[in-house]
Amino acid sequence: MQPDDFAPGTVWLVGAGPGDPDLLTMKAVRLISRADIVFYDALVSKRVRALIREGTKGVNVGKRSGRHSKDQSAINAMLVGAVRAGKRVVRLKGGDPMVFGRATEEISAIEAAGFRVCVCPGITAASAAAASAGLSLTLRGVARDVRFVTAHSRRGAALDLDWASLARGGSTLAFYMGRDVAGHIARRLIEAGMSGATPVLVTCNASLPDEQRLATRLDLLDLATRALAGSAPTLILVGPAMALAERARSGAMAAEAD
Ligand code: SAH
Repeated sequence: MQPDDFAPGTVWLVGAGPGDPDLLTMKAVRLISRADIVFYDALVSKRVRALIREGTKGVNVGKRSGRHSKDQSAINAMLVGAVRAGKRVVRLKGGDPMVFGRATEEISAIEAAGFRVCVCPGITAASAAAASAGLSLTLRGVARDVRFVTAHSRRGAALDLDWASLARGGSTLAFYMGRDVAGHIARRLIEAGMSGATPVLVTCNASLPDEQRLATRLDLLDLATRALAGSAPTLILVGPAMALAERARSGAMAAEAD
């Protein structure tokens, strides 16, 4: 939409991508630079937030990366309040707003209040992690589909996933918000029939200068994630297409041993 797709009284949900500002779309950069107010999550990197113009209000509505933080209805009310006041509103969300971003709730709240809302897509964490490792999420004859899976559950509740279907194989599973429950994920997948030797790639802070990548296997996933320092956003990719990461790792280890 051009040229005046950002009249006052409009809200744009904008994908901030995985962290590297070079991975923003040109449209995202344009919208951020035209906003009167920007509401952002904790997952939006400092380097992306640096693009918010001086004089534009930036409002942090997240407490911690990867967690549902501030009450969603409070965020909806803030968005509606700003757009009602005639502002050009950007709601900046990590990755792609349409992947585990609670976009539907925000879109519905804004539309119910009678305002226009549009969405600018972003690069989701799974794409960024795959790109960094040089591994395709799909692989001819090996991984015919990619499944984006949320490993977030309501406080204290068991993860309510269809483990049998996830364990069937022939897919790449991308677990979002899975770091604290990585051991549980591995156990349930193995119980449901997936091989403990299934390759896994764990990526923290994908696309950022302090990105950490770890190639492991399903039965070692618990140990591997416990060894990670800090609490950076972490994506877990599981499936045979991740096998090359293991090969790369043993290559690196062999090189070190020389
Ligand atoms: N809308 C986001 C996902 C939000 S859920 C997207 O499309 O990427 C939050 C989860 O995303 C985190 O817990 C983590 O699993 C993943 N994530 C987001 N950014 C990441 C990054 N830079 N590196 C690794 N994982 C990331």
